[in-house]
Amino acid sequence: MEAIILLGPPGSGKGTVAEDLKDALHFEHISTGDMLRNAIRLEKPVGLEAKSYMEKGELVPDEVIVKLVEDLLQSGDPSTRYMFDGFPRTVRQAEMLDQALLPFGSNVRYAFLLEVDRAILVRRICGRRVCRNCGAVYNVHNRMPKVEGVCDQCGEKAIYQRPDDSEETLNNRLEVYNAQTASLIDYYQEKGTLVRIDAEDREATEQTILDHLSPA
Ligand code: AMP
Repeated sequence: MEAIILLGPPGSGKGTVAEDLKDALHFEHISTGDMLRNAIRLEKPVGLEAKSYMEKGELVPDEVIVKLVEDLLQSGDPSTRYMFDGFPRTVRQAEMLDQALLPFGSNVRYAFLLEVDRAILVRRICGRRVCRNCGAVYNVHNRMPKVEGVCDQCGEKAIYQRPDDSEETLNNRLEVYNAQTASLIDYYQEKGTLVRIDAEDREATEQTILDHLSPA
């Protein structure tokens, strides 16, 4: 088992980068946000538990997330390589991940920190549109589906704006990131696995990650 982490505020491009790179690097893209949104859609208990936190832009309690990820790791193939996006978000989650990787003789290989100016984050997030069915991501500024409202990837007419992508909820999510998630920067810095990336340009960001992960 192998794990790398994409760290950074909402809108820093974690999901896009993970989707773009997962096949070339043979990683499974794990977004805890997507897992929770699916659980809500399917009316699973964990979704019901998470929903009110997500609507407010607050973090879902650690116990819920830890259980979700532990179940995933335990049911997965031990040779899987995971690219985590939006997890961990607290030191407690990071510690749990380290513990869960121990039996596999593994640890977090890199934590890539995607850094982007706040004004760009706001523009990206408020312009983001998502397919409710398959999770494909679009943006009103530069990446819209070929047919309005219809997902290029799955063909469903299911493009919507995530309720937590509104400007007011986003402000809270950015505060929550600074208050609760930014401490992970020190956590991974101390472990020597942090890689800071100026993530304004997607292609340059992806190239930096490829340079670190591709065999020489
Ligand atoms: P995301 O799709 O990563 O932006 O996550 C959307 C929302 O899901 C967040 O604002 C949180 O409410 C919740 N969430 C996703 N991942 C986590 C996590 N690792 N810890 C706590 N809450 C999470």
